[in-house]
Amino acid sequence: MSEGPSTQGSEVGVLYDEMHALYVAALGDNLHAGYFEGALDTSALEAAQERLTQLMIEHVRLEPQQLLLDVGCGSGRPALRLARDSGGGVLGISVSAAQVHSANARAAAEGLAQCVRFQLADVQSLPFPDASFDAAWALESMLHVADRPRGLAEIRRVTRPGGKLAIADVTVDAPLEPEELAELVRAFRLGRLCSREQYVTELVAAGFDVLSARDIGENTLPTLRAIARRVPALQAEVGSRWQSAQLEAFLRSFTHLGKLRRKLGYVLIAAVRRD
Ligand code: SAH
Repeated sequence: MSEGPSTQGSEVGVLYDEMHALYVAALGDNLHAGYFEGALDTSALEAAQERLTQLMIEHVRLEPQQLLLDVGCGSGRPALRLARDSGGGVLGISVSAAQVHSANARAAAEGLAQCVRFQLADVQSLPFPDASFDAAWALESMLHVADRPRGLAEIRRVTRPGGKLAIADVTVDAPLEPEELAELVRAFRLGRLCSREQYVTELVAAGFDVLSARDIGENTLPTLRAIARRVPALQAEVGSRWQSAQLEAFLRSFTHLGKLRRKLGYVLIAAVRRD
């Protein structure tokens, strides 16, 4: 299922430019879901989010002297962690100028500007030569991309043969009503979501061997509960850090996401560029 409305890259940039502070207050510096071991896992959201980053790190196994493309860098935190853990280099891209600016400032503040850099770029048209990266990952970013097959083809082009790719992304497990989908796309500036099976098909067509495509929807679901617990703190900062209309839009988006949670999934993919 990949038809329906979608969003342009520039609109995604505006979302993250304008809502970045609110998203960071709600989700922390990791702008992605947490990975919880099960319904009884009471880990803090941040610890669970770091666990998801860890799963991505374990797949790409970046080595010192190697370079990874981070598609959709957010605040830069996952990229900086990867660089620190591996000793390798990371080039991160985002369609939000504000994110690029603050992520570069963070790299400098953490003393990692020599090996981690962020720049404005769209995955659908990457400004890099062929085979210029040893690996790539997209941590909860492809969901915004209007033309996912084109984005995957671009990632393949800039990754060297044998290079690893890790993806974490939201999927559609059951058909959504047209208005449910339209609201979701508007709220989160989504591209065209698809099923896990469709994702694998597109990756193979783009020139990747898919090693695994794990459905981790149940592991990521508690993220919504963790965000709900932060709402009073967000409300306390209306007027000082964000407008009430911004917070209302944010809450509407997450309420809608919560209603659709049984129709959505989350996939963790490990792939390798064929040749
Ligand atoms: N990976 C980060 C951020 C996830 S938020 C983290 O896990 O914390 C989604 C990110 O995808 C944002 O940085 C957004 O700017 C980026 N993004 C969305 N559409 C994009 C596109 N077409 N090309 C490149 N980056 C994109």
